[in-house]
Amino acid sequence: MNYQLSDRVRALNPYIGAELRDKVETLRRSGRKLIALNVGEPDFPTPVHIAHAGIEAIIKGVTKYTPVQGTHDVRQAVCDKLKRDNSLSYGPEEVIITTGAKQAVANALLSICNEDDEVLLPIPCWGSYPEMIAHTGARPVFVETDPEQDFGLNVERLGSKVTSKTRAILLTNPNNPTGAVLDRETLFAIGMIAVRHDLYIIADEIYEHLVYGEKVPSIAALSEEIKARTITINGLSKAYAMTGWRIGYACGPLPVIRAMTVIQSYTTSNPSSIGQYAAITALKDEGDSVKEMTKSFDERRQYLIREIQSIRGLSCPNARGAFYLMVDVSRYFGSVYEEGTIADSKDFAEYLLDQVGVVVTPGDMFQAPRFIRLSYATSLAQLQEAVALIRAALSLLKMREEN
Ligand code: PMP
Repeated sequence: MNYQLSDRVRALNPYIGAELRDKVETLRRSGRKLIALNVGEPDFPTPVHIAHAGIEAIIKGVTKYTPVQGTHDVRQAVCDKLKRDNSLSYGPEEVIITTGAKQAVANALLSICNEDDEVLLPIPCWGSYPEMIAHTGARPVFVETDPEQDFGLNVERLGSKVTSKTRAILLTNPNNPTGAVLDRETLFAIGMIAVRHDLYIIADEIYEHLVYGEKVPSIAALSEEIKARTITINGLSKAYAMTGWRIGYACGPLPVIRAMTVIQSYTTSNPSSIGQYAAITALKDEGDSVKEMTKSFDERRQYLIREIQSIRGLSCPNARGAFYLMVDVSRYFGSVYEEGTIADSKDFAEYLLDQVGVVVTPGDMFQAPRFIRLSYATSLAQLQEAVALIRAALSLLKMREEN
């Protein structure tokens, strides 16, 4: 058999994040001790009261198909949450529950993009977006952000990228991988660009609770005109430590939510009935567990920023949200060591893995080739150990200007 694959799938690049996760698992199974700073999930367990709701769902027999769009009860719980936390008013018909926020993003893009459309995408960005956009036949148009400005978005630059082909702006706030948090004024200005040029906004707010400082508004809450064109994406993975439960959601204009439901009806149908049931409990309140987690992330964030800044040759912009830190490692490009040369961030990441067993994500995955991304969704003790190991590994290298 000649296993001819579709042009569509052959056009996809392998997902570096998933490959790295697999590699870590294989190495660990072979007995290698590693500190994984590549993980994009909270290290906390799912709060017990939510876990109990999941068990209750199974025992009660909430184990059947549900409506494709999600049960009425969980969609109502999302509406209540949106009203309480985001000052957003939606009815259950304007909400879809998805298998993780990732599916919500994919459904949204598939619902609004045509061949050759352009989607404005600030970079550095989550590694999945460019391929997800390309998979619809549209093209990502990157909008660079500056590390010197802590990766804040320059609205004029964004506006200058709009063409007659632009269909949407894809925003992540707070941002993965940079931890940048866009403030109200910037969000409003972005919203006005969308209104002026009749564009959709896809607002991925999966890290909304993980902000260390002033809380950020949802862009859709800033004006009715902006709301009318915004698809807000969120989910339970990060805020409630529920990555494995695979529950996300989107709210937005009725025609788009209906289109997303049609797509979902032909791919996965409803997300897990058990996950949906537990989500009702999770969404009831912001929860002490969320606040506890955020407090703990903030301690680690401050620790990591301080330590990284003190390591020779490394620098990092400030990060005010999510649980990631971008570290500029480009001063080590060109460094030579016994087994090879560090030419780029991939080599740098490999060097840390090989020499001291610290796993980091190369910035190439986020369109940020000078950087690596560190996740601080791991214990302070592990971070302390990782910092010491990174320091030791880099002390063996000569930086470019020292060669
Ligand atoms: N959006 C962003 C920006 C993310 O970082 C992630 C997870 N890494 C997701 C969406 C997907 O989350 P979920 O687990 O809900 O699919």
